Amino acid sequence: MTNLYARLADCFPEDREQRFATLPGGGIVSYADLAARSARYANAIVASGVAPGDRVAVQAEKSIDMLMLYLGCLRAGAVFLPLNTAYTSGELDYFMRDAEPALFVCDPAQADPIRALAATAGVARVETLDDAGGGSLAAIAADCAGTFETVPRADDDLAAILYTSGTTGRSKGAMLSHDNLASNAFTLREHWRFTGADVLLHALPIFHTHGLFVATNVVLAAGASMLFLSRFDVAAIMAALPRATAMMGVPTFYIRLLGEAGFDRALVAHMRLFISGSAPLSADIHREFNARTGHAILERYGMTETNMNTSNPYDGDRIAGTVGQPLPGVSIRIADPESGEILSQGKIGVIEIAGPNVFKGYWRMPEKTEAEFRGGHFISGDLGFIDARGYVSIVGRAKDLIISGGFNIYPAEVETALDKLAQVHESAVIGVPHPDLGEAVVAVVVPRDPGFADGDALKAALADQLARFKQPRRIHFVDALPKNAMGKIQKTVLRERYAEAS
Ligand code: ATP
Ligand code: MG
Repeated sequence: MTNLYARLADCFPEDREQRFATLPGGGIVSYADLAARSARYANAIVASGVAPGDRVAVQAEKSIDMLMLYLGCLRAGAVFLPLNTAYTSGELDYFMRDAEPALFVCDPAQADPIRALAATAGVARVETLDDAGGGSLAAIAADCAGTFETVPRADDDLAAILYTSGTTGRSKGAMLSHDNLASNAFTLREHWRFTGADVLLHALPIFHTHGLFVATNVVLAAGASMLFLSRFDVAAIMAALPRATAMMGVPTFYIRLLGEAGFDRALVAHMRLFISGSAPLSADIHREFNARTGHAILERYGMTETNMNTSNPYDGDRIAGTVGQPLPGVSIRIADPESGEILSQGKIGVIEIAGPNVFKGYWRMPEKTEAEFRGGHFISGDLGFIDARGYVSIVGRAKDLIISGGFNIYPAEVETALDKLAQVHESAVIGVPHPDLGEAVVAVVVPRDPGFADGDALKAALADQLARFKQPRRIHFVDALPKNAMGKIQKTVLRERYAEAS
C-alpha cells in the first residue's frame, strides 16, 4: 500500500501511548490519539460527501485538529489543499474556482463571507474549524468512529495541492503525490538522523510545505514527537527550547532569537539540530549563531513544487551561504537559462531538479507544466552554481536577474552591500527598463531612521564596495517593502511601480 499515511504509520512507535505532540496549553496527543482523531476526520469528510481524489480546501488557524484533518484527508484518499490564513476574499475566489474543492473548511469567524463566496464560485459545501478544536467539522468528527480503513493509493495519486507563495506572480497549484511526499520524508529522516527520541520544536505555519510536510512528515516518519506552538513567539520558543532536541525555522526565527539576551550556549546546549530554509540565511547570521551557541545551522533548499532538494550535511561542513549538496536520490544540474545547455562546475545558471520528490505538474496548467520541464528535470527558476565539493549556492531568482549594459547583476549581492550600511534597514534591488543599458539597477530602501532619504550618501558608501556597473543608478526610499503572505519581497510589484522612474 502506498498511501502516505499508511507508510508513515508503519513507522509509528510500537507503543502507541507514546507522545506525538505536546500542545500549547500542555495537552498531550499520543500516537493512539492521532490514529483515532485522524480516523474521525477521515469519516467526517467522507460523511460530508468527499470522495477519493476530491480536494478539501482548508483555510484555518494552525491547530492540532487541522493537522488531524490533513492526516484524515490522506487516509480518505482526498487531496489536502491548505491555504494561507492571510489570503483575502479576492484571492480565495481565485483558489476556489481554480481548485474546485468538494469541501471548504474555514474558521467559524469567516463562515458567512466564505459561504457567500463559495456559493458564487460553485463550491458545494463549507464547514468550520477553529484553533480550539471547535467548529462544525470538528462536531461532525466528534460523532464519527475513531477507526477508518485507510484507502489504498497509487504512488502517483495526489496527496495534496499546495499553492506556491506567489513571490514571482500568481500562486500556482503544485500537485504532490503520495510518493513525492513519502520519499522526501524518509530521505530527510535519514539525512537529518531523526529518531523516536527526537522532540521537534514546531512553530511554523502548517499551510506551507515547510511546516506541513518537512516538519510534520519527518516527525511521523521517525515516530518522534513535537512541541506544537501556534505561531512564532520568541518568548514561547525560549521557554520551549529546553524540552526540544531539534528545531526547524525560517531565517527570521534565528534572527529574532539572536536578538534575545537570554539566547545563549547554555539554553541550547542539549539541542541536536537547528535547520533553516524557505529563504536565504545570510552567512553573517550563520556565523553569529555559531559564535553565540556553538551550533552550525543546517541550511537546506526546497520549494513547494519539489519538497527538499539539497541539504548541508549532518556530519561534515555546514557551509555558511550554501544550501548544501543534493539529497540522496535527487539530481541537480545547472543549465544555461536560455539555451538549456548544461553548464560546467562553478558556472552560474538555472538550477534544474529531478527525483522522486519532484511534483506532478501545476494544477490545470498543462502548458505551464510543460514549459517548466526540460529533459525530465524541473526548471526551478532559481539561479545558482555548484562548487568543487558539490555544494550548491543560490544567487537569486532568474526572474530577478538584472542585465545592464551586457553585464549580469545579481540583486542579492547589491542588497547585501546595502544592508551592511548603518542607514539601511532593508533593501530590494531591481532592474527597470533603460534606453541605453537595457536595464538599469534601482534600489528600494527602507531606512533605519524614518525620514532618511539621502540616496547620494548611500551611493557614495557603495562606491568602493561594488563595481560601477552594479551600483544602483537610482535609490528610492519607502516605509516598507511589498511582501506576500509568506513575508517574501514581491519584486514584480516594485518593477511595475518604478518602471517609469529611472
Ligand atoms: P512563487 O513560485 O509563487 O513565485 P515562491 O517561489 O516564493 O513563490 P515557495 O515554493 O514557497 O514559493 O518558495 C520556494 C523558493 O524559496 C525557492 O524557489 C527559492 O527561491 C526560495 N528558497 C527556499 N529555500 C531557500 C534557501 N535555503 N535559500 C535561498 N532561497 C530559498
Ligand atoms: Mg517558486
